Amino acid sequence: MGVGLKVAIIGSGPAGMYTAGALNSKCPGCQIDILDKLATPYGLIRTGVAPDHQTTKNVSRAFDKIMENENVRFVGNIGFGSDISLTTLKSLYDVVVMAIGTPKDRELGVDGEDKSGVFGAQTFVYWYNGHPEFRDAVPHLDIKHAIVIGNGNVALDVARVILSTEEEMIKSDLVDHAGKMIFKSPIETVRIIGRRGPEHAQFSTKELSEFGNLSTAVTYSDPTLIPDDFQSENAKETKVVNNNLKLLRGYSANKTDSTKRLLTLDFLLSPVAVLGDETMSGVRFELNRIEHGKAIGTGEYTDLPCDLLVTCIGYELKNVDGLPVEKGIVKNIDGRVEEGLYVVGWAKRGPSGTIGTNRLDSQAVVDRIVEDYCNGPDTTKEGADGLDDYCTANGIASVSFNDWKKINEAELQRAGSESPRRKFVRKRDMLTLVHEETQ
Ligand SMILES: Cc1cc2nc3c(=O)[nH]c(=O)nc-3n(C[C@H](O)[C@H](O)[C@H](O)COP(=O)(O)OP(=O)(O)OC[C@H]3O[C@@H](n4cnc5c(N)ncnc54)[C@H](O)[C@@H]3O)c2cc1C
Repeated sequence: MGVGLKVAIIGSGPAGMYTAGALNSKCPGCQIDILDKLATPYGLIRTGVAPDHQTTKNVSRAFDKIMENENVRFVGNIGFGSDISLTTLKSLYDVVVMAIGTPKDRELGVDGEDKSGVFGAQTFVYWYNGHPEFRDAVPHLDIKHAIVIGNGNVALDVARVILSTEEEMIKSDLVDHAGKMIFKSPIETVRIIGRRGPEHAQFSTKELSEFGNLSTAVTYSDPTLIPDDFQSENAKETKVVNNNLKLLRGYSANKTDSTKRLLTLDFLLSPVAVLGDETMSGVRFELNRIEHGKAIGTGEYTDLPCDLLVTCIGYELKNVDGLPVEKGIVKNIDGRVEEGLYVVGWAKRGPSGTIGTNRLDSQAVVDRIVEDYCNGPDTTKEGADGLDDYCTANGIASVSFNDWKKINEAELQRAGSESPRRKFVRKRDMLTLVHEETQ
């Protein structure tokens, strides 16, 4: 057994945390440092999962337990590629595991998508969830018509949050700066648009059903596009899709001439251009038909007015510090990248699946690490001590798990009576708090 194997996991999202948990039980005696560029742990649990879906965020309690292990450390506020390089990490640790997710929005690839008013989902979601790098990403929501492109749960989250009221968000941790804009926005319509049909959408039934509870918006979908029935070889898929179609049929019976704001679920439309001058004024779509499950353009077009466009069409990884990136992920074979370097989570397999999907995936990669390393010679690497020396020498004010607990406690204490927490959204405020508390 390689005694005291030194492991650095880069990224403290679900994939990184499940990796740490599995390593801890399968490779006893190993020393694990979990680095993150943020001062807060757990990745998209904090910065992605919708602020009104607090139950989903409860998984962080299991991650807390992993962090509390003696041989596990959180080292926040240290960015891979900016503060520390792969070469340095490999010199300090036997094994480096990349768990940095896919932090870039995929582009639509249409003319005009650089106009003001167009946002990728990551940017928009990070903004309303208080990711410090995106605090000021959305300048205003003084808009009438929004379009959300994409047919997954993130599109549903974005549309629901845009249309939410203060009362609906009272039990959420929606950040102050976003709440202020969202609650006073004069928005009238939100369209969620997919290029294929309703039977191809990747919505979960629970999230789709939440549109029935919006207090100031009515939901509608064109009944002529909703099939009566859906059959697939996969029984689970058949059930989910038919439940969704049933919900959509219910929405299609809603009256759209009410005084409420309007949310529509539109299908068979592909964006071809963002219209307007510097600021967008609409989006041109091509109407599609479906052939063998694929969306085929019909050559007919429609222009829809829009002053906010959020694209929820997936994410990718961009090149960071010489990592071998191909097709938006770290090039790997079953998690192995090169000697001593592994990858897990969305950075390994792309942005799909739920939080739980990362658990089995990380466990499988840990099996490879155990196979490759845990029966080898004892370690000679410096690990944690070496990283601390590196941080001191380079003026990096790292954040420990105890520091995070102070930030967490302060966020809980300053929350309103019904809200779970009031997040800090500036890194400097978090670091000041940690610094003052330790003096
Ligand atoms: C908007 C949104 C909502 C979602 N909602 C749900 C949901 O309700 N339920 C569900 O089951 N799943 C949901 N998911 C999916 C779930 O969040 C992912 O499956 C999961 O977070 C992927 O885990 P990960 O660890 O690979 O990546 P991430 O969670 O993205 O974690 C990556 C971590 O790496 C850090 N990092 C990135 N770059 C660097 C760097 N250069 N240096 C150091 N650290 C770095 C980041 O700060 C982050 O902490 C959602 C996803 C999104 C995008």
